[in-house]
Amino acid sequence: MTFPTRTQNSSATPVDGDRPQVRPAAEGWEQQRTAEGRPLLQFASPRVKQPPQHLADLSLAERAEKLKELGLQPFRAKQLSTHYFQHWTTDPERMSDLPKSGREELVEAMFPPLLTEVRRLRTDDGNTIKFLWRLFDGALVESVLMRYPGRITLCVSSQAGCGMNCPFCATGQAGLTRNMSTAEIVDQVVAANRVIAAGELGGTAHAKEMGTERVTNIVFMGMGEPLANYKRVMAAVHRFVDPAPEGLGMSARNITISTVGLVPAIRKLADEDVPVTFALSLHAPDDELRDELIPVNNRWKVDEAIDAAYDYFRRTGRRVSIEYALIKDMNDHPWRASLLAKKLNQRGRGWVHVNPIPLNPTPGSIWTASEPEVQDEFVGVLRAAGIPTTLRDTRGKEIDGACGQLAAAE
Ligand code: SAH
Repeated sequence: MTFPTRTQNSSATPVDGDRPQVRPAAEGWEQQRTAEGRPLLQFASPRVKQPPQHLADLSLAERAEKLKELGLQPFRAKQLSTHYFQHWTTDPERMSDLPKSGREELVEAMFPPLLTEVRRLRTDDGNTIKFLWRLFDGALVESVLMRYPGRITLCVSSQAGCGMNCPFCATGQAGLTRNMSTAEIVDQVVAANRVIAAGELGGTAHAKEMGTERVTNIVFMGMGEPLANYKRVMAAVHRFVDPAPEGLGMSARNITISTVGLVPAIRKLADEDVPVTFALSLHAPDDELRDELIPVNNRWKVDEAIDAAYDYFRRTGRRVSIEYALIKDMNDHPWRASLLAKKLNQRGRGWVHVNPIPLNPTPGSIWTASEPEVQDEFVGVLRAAGIPTTLRDTRGKEIDGACGQLAAAE
């Protein structure tokens, strides 16, 4: 599948000295629009069949309840949970603590297969793996596993497709197929843990971690808008942080939720008792450009989104990140860096850091990443204004596994 995205360089008008202003425009693919001509936003998932219920959809208490309904002893819930969340297995052969008779049926009832691996792509150094999964209804999603010194990060998908229609992101171009279930989200992590345990992720582990390695960080930066699938994403977060064997026993701070800026959902997230790391995909500090670049900006403006991010920090004490894909001549002007810094500093100091991301090409795209000097200048302006800024090391470009490149085609 190719969805060429283009900017019309011919329409570029010089501003900011001799720096042109390229405007976002779709060419070669059609951005879906409403009757009023606005880019279509799909907040609700099409009403399609959800996958069968899986143990990871349920809390420990609900698992015990379900077992009771199946005529089994509730304490089996803990045993089954240990197999899944601590040993990452759904193989009845390995569940010798369960009575042999009825074991297979029990496993079938609690662990219906959710993800079928279609393809696995690996970078040359083996440090990054992109998985393509087929879901029960044929929908395709991807996750990306990355080894860094001292941590292993999995970038998970939360929806098949995405309804946010951002013209520079490959995922948005095909629209939203459906929300993923809680267990479909969780199972991406458990599957990745299995791959790591089998020694299939390259790179070197610290000696003390050999044999005990697993995913340490999860970022909701795969396919989908996590806050548009709020309930299921939050249940998945619970499975990640709940102590074993109820869940994976991970630390909330190592889980990042990234959003285009669904303001009411950000406020709800701040009221949860799980202080995850929060990231806002801003990409422009001015409404004029952001309205075109991030269609949801027509609903919630730059200042409302930044206010919600600031309140997230105030509520949780967790420093938030602002993501900013640097696109040549479109959003990379020094005046935009100054405006961004001003808007962030207006709210306070020390509550935020900025994560510029060199734009990754999407299929057929002529949008390009900013020139290195321009990138450096942008970062320099922010730093000079006292905003901690780190350029994101984007991984997996050669396997189309980097930010914005997940399109899940066979
Ligand atoms: N829907 C969520 C999470 C998925 S995207 C969100 O938008 O935040 C994760 C990050 O990748 C977002 O910051 C997104 O804006 C960014 N991104 C999308 N397309 C990109 C591209 N082509 N190059 C670089 N980053 C991109």
